[in-house]
Amino acid sequence: MSQIAFPTPDPAILARADAIRTALRALLPRECVVTDEAGRRAFETDALTAYRRLPLAVILPRTTEEVATALRFCREQGVNIVPRGAGTSLAGGAVPQEDAIVIGLSKMNRVLEINYADRYARVEAGVTNLAISEAVGEKGFFYAPDPSSQLACTIGGNIAMNSGGAHCLKYGVTSNNLMGVRLVMFDGDILDLGGPALDADGLDFLGLVCGGEGQLGIVTEAYVRILPLAEGARPVLFGFDSAEDASRCVAAVIGAGIVPVAMEYMDRLAIEITENFAHAGYPLDVEAMLIIESEGSAPEIEAEQKRILDIARAHNVRVVKESMSAMESAQIWKGRKSAFGATGRIADYICMDGTVPTGQLPEALRRVAKICADEGLRVANVFHAGDGNMHPLILYNMNDPAEQEKAERAGARVLEMSVELGGCLTGEHGVGVEKRDLMSKQYTPQELAQQKSVRAVFDPDGRFNPAKVFPLTGRAA
Ligand SMILES: Cc1cc2nc3c(=O)[nH]c(=O)nc-3n(C[C@H](O)[C@H](O)[C@H](O)COP(=O)(O)OP(=O)(O)OC[C@H]3O[C@@H](n4cnc5c(N)ncnc54)[C@H](O)[C@@H]3O)c2cc1C
Repeated sequence: MSQIAFPTPDPAILARADAIRTALRALLPRECVVTDEAGRRAFETDALTAYRRLPLAVILPRTTEEVATALRFCREQGVNIVPRGAGTSLAGGAVPQEDAIVIGLSKMNRVLEINYADRYARVEAGVTNLAISEAVGEKGFFYAPDPSSQLACTIGGNIAMNSGGAHCLKYGVTSNNLMGVRLVMFDGDILDLGGPALDADGLDFLGLVCGGEGQLGIVTEAYVRILPLAEGARPVLFGFDSAEDASRCVAAVIGAGIVPVAMEYMDRLAIEITENFAHAGYPLDVEAMLIIESEGSAPEIEAEQKRILDIARAHNVRVVKESMSAMESAQIWKGRKSAFGATGRIADYICMDGTVPTGQLPEALRRVAKICADEGLRVANVFHAGDGNMHPLILYNMNDPAEQEKAERAGARVLEMSVELGGCLTGEHGVGVEKRDLMSKQYTPQELAQQKSVRAVFDPDGRFNPAKVFPLTGRAA
């Protein structure tokens, strides 16, 4: 049985469901409104597929004004709202409820402006992450945060979750690369926060919205920083006979003040599953592997990789495999970025993203192994090691309620452990419904109350993404 509770839908809204859907169809163009059951089913879950709820209706606006119209309507009707990008959230951030209307930004997918001189792009919220780098790649630029889901996930979802990715070790996560947003508020008012200049005056509202998990309003446009591509880049694979050696090596590289552009960790099971699918050339006879990428001019890459190799040798590295061509490098990254998808082919999984200081990685990996062994579940570790951002993929069978309970319990214990070791519940996937009830492990009641009061300034009726991020209270709990 799932431990994650969803509040009972508001019976008054359910009683008016047909009338609400009819009113919506009259209000917005036909292609923007999905009310039939089959159409709504497509929006009943996200990448945390264990949880499903059929939404009341779905609105797919094409403009900021249509978003504003939709939000005014929801307010008048007293209906909850679930903003949605591509639905790749691993934390259940985009899972709807039966009394909520999903507002999906997928039709707002245009790159509106590219300014190379001032190094920004202005895009609609439904543009995919990868589409930004593709739009500016020809001129030698890119958008740095690169979630492994970048082919599908949208910049609006990235902003809401403050997403990261393999190359965020050097370039920072979404908040470090976001310059401004257009935000539609609960009452349909439109707010511009930040913009093409580096910083805006006044309180840092942009900082709140980035990571606001869709609870403060709907982002319809964003200004993002674009950066010149490095002169060159080369990943190297380092294979170790123990998790201990590999994770100590990570801590030692970071401790030496080296900042490679990416430093990813994969354990034996993750390597095996991924290699079977992607044929990336990973070594199959090691317990753990690091992919460490350096970039810059050829001498810069050589110098950094020599320092890293010395550290790896001091940590008993057994296999060292340099990428010898752009094609090999692409293959190495294709493998890493398809690791979750490859895992999904063999089992259901939940992916935790608790984060620990890099010095705690050896202890954290030991504890993850023990927790999963206690529950009798397999685990594959594949994560952004340089940031200490762990991703144990806990394998289970979704159709077996007892296994689901075990997987949720193991996941919760892993996240509690991250906090105990001086880290936090989420490095990049957000809280959503998945970690909602664990927030009290990280924050005191006073801290949670402060966060909720800030949220209430943006959303006084509490209608955006209810029952997420904050532990449930009262009857719903
Ligand atoms: C295979 C796979 C790999 C992944 N790898 C990574 C990774 O490396 N790094 C990482 O950080 N994440 C990763 N993720 C998680 C996920 O892709 C990110 O959280 C992503 O940012 C979600 O974007 P989305 O467009 O799919 O948003 P959705 O899943 O649709 O929504 C996510 C949240 O954002 C809110 N939201 C969406 N759009 C808006 C908007 N316009 N305005 C306001 N709120 C909005 C939603 O309400 C929800 O709370 C991965 C997921 C998968 C399935």
